[in-house]
Amino acid sequence: MNGPQAKRSEGRRGVRGERPTRFCPACYAMNEWDADVCLRCDAPLETSRDFDARLVWALGHPDGATAIRAADALAARRTPGAIEPLGRMAARIDDPYRAAAAVRALRAFLPDPRAAAHLAEARRHPSVIVRREADAAS
Ligand SMILES: [Zn+2]
Repeated sequence: MNGPQAKRSEGRRGVRGERPTRFCPACYAMNEWDADVCLRCDAPLETSRDFDARLVWALGHPDGATAIRAADALAARRTPGAIEPLGRMAARIDDPYRAAAAVRALRAFLPDPRAAAHLAEARRHPSVIVRREADAAS
């Protein structure tokens, strides 16, 4: 059972410096690495998903810098399943930096036609920094 006791961190040895953390798959709250359930929403913190799946999930992270790092990593790994999620991220108009990072990542997947299609769409994005990244592909 995971009562409130299990979620508390007191009683653990006080270690200075950063402890590894992980984000809740449901609400993106930051949790301790060894927590079983999310401190905020009680969702189980599953560990079964592989690294690529977690990177794709991180594209939707509320922290833009985390999402951008994930996009860069997916581009470096050329994760095939990342093209459509990156395409959705590239179409976002609320955060042009995030969208531009997705476009930059999509360029790594060329000449895949799905990546090319998203890049063509990004050339009509309202933000100039996104269009500039898309134009760099041609
Ligand atoms: Zn949560």
